[in-house]
Amino acid sequence: MNKCSFCGRRENEVKMLVYGIEGYICDDCIEQANEILKEHRLGAGKVPKLENLPKPKEIKEYLDRYVIGQDAAKMTLSVAVYNHYKRLNHPGETDDVELEKSNIIMVGSTGTGKTLLARTIAKMLVVPFAMVDATVLTEAGYVGEDVESLLARLLQAADGDVKQAERGIVFIDEIDKIARKGDNPSITRDVSGEGVQQGLLKLLEGSIVNVPPQGGRKHPEQQFIQVDTRNILFICGGAFDGIEKRIAQRLNTHVVGFDAARNVAKIDKSNMMQYIAPMDLKSFGLIPEIIGRLPILTHLEPLDRKALRSILTEPKNSIVRQYIKMFEIDGVKLVFEEEVLDYVVDKAIEFKLGARGLRSLIETIMMEPMFEVPSTKVKKYVVTLDFAKQKVENANMTVLKESIEDK
Ligand code: ADP
Repeated sequence: MNKCSFCGRRENEVKMLVYGIEGYICDDCIEQANEILKEHRLGAGKVPKLENLPKPKEIKEYLDRYVIGQDAAKMTLSVAVYNHYKRLNHPGETDDVELEKSNIIMVGSTGTGKTLLARTIAKMLVVPFAMVDATVLTEAGYVGEDVESLLARLLQAADGDVKQAERGIVFIDEIDKIARKGDNPSITRDVSGEGVQQGLLKLLEGSIVNVPPQGGRKHPEQQFIQVDTRNILFICGGAFDGIEKRIAQRLNTHVVGFDAARNVAKIDKSNMMQYIAPMDLKSFGLIPEIIGRLPILTHLEPLDRKALRSILTEPKNSIVRQYIKMFEIDGVKLVFEEEVLDYVVDKAIEFKLGARGLRSLIETIMMEPMFEVPSTKVKKYVVTLDFAKQKVENANMTVLKESIEDK
């Protein structure tokens, strides 16, 4: 009778035998092998050695391949991730100097690359990473997800390994959406505002949190998993729509006295975000305790014409490269005339579509060729300015704009 070449059990003693060229393996051994692989991948609860990990400069160089500009945010993230590794290598208990973690908050208008930065950095991390949208979070007991669900996602990313999850990084997107709505905190119950901030504060401060397994909740029979958040790095991002006005107000009221005129003159009105300070977040509606737990505040620049033009072609997986690749699979060489790319950027600016609009515009132009070309024998397809203009002018820009805003 056939038997497993690994554990020696016979066919009738196991659920299943899978055969290879030289022998057999049973279902149990497959599972065990899988566990070994998983442990190996995650380092079996070990912390990767600092000298084997990328330095801040290397992390930034990696980000540069995918994200255009945003140097300030890139540097901040690179340093934060590196310091996170450092802390894991030198836990406080053995050292006299305890390395405290510094959570981050990134502020920048929508579509300037916050999520892209987080996604890109996640690809090179050696610790578990989870990304969550703060808009789904509500106070415990309300429809939506409890704050603890953030950690359930991180646990999932760590394949259920609590020790690994406790060293992970969580990116909380749209943190501005849980800002307190009014100045008076108790007008109505603020289900998705201050209550959520209080819940989040517990995680940011570093505490032992009871996490419902599988992100589920309200199943009393489920055992909670205890997760210590002390070493989890939190990175928050938000657009904070309209915060520029608050920054401007603050700058105006603070600039008084002898130097006033000179300082006002120095302010670059086209990019107020660069002057952001913690007090602006407070006036936007984040509670001071939360702001205190996000000590590193960085901003993203608005994308100008040059940046938009670079975004089209330069990133490793830029939209233009993606289309070229798609045609290449059909054996067709796709060429965009340079003027087409300039035109797309012009339209994105004219209709205030931002970086997301670049993709929509290119998609509008490319729909017909994508449909037609695979059925033809052409070996080369050139997208001309006339063709691009014709497609974009026929498109309904209002619909296009709305479709971008929904994303
Ligand atoms: P945000 O999170 O700030 O609202 P995203 O990161 O989701 O914006 O950006 C939306 C899309 O726009 C990205 O998927 C990417 O294609 C493009 N994009 C935005 N900013 C950049 C940038 N700085 N470099 C490259 N692409 C960008």
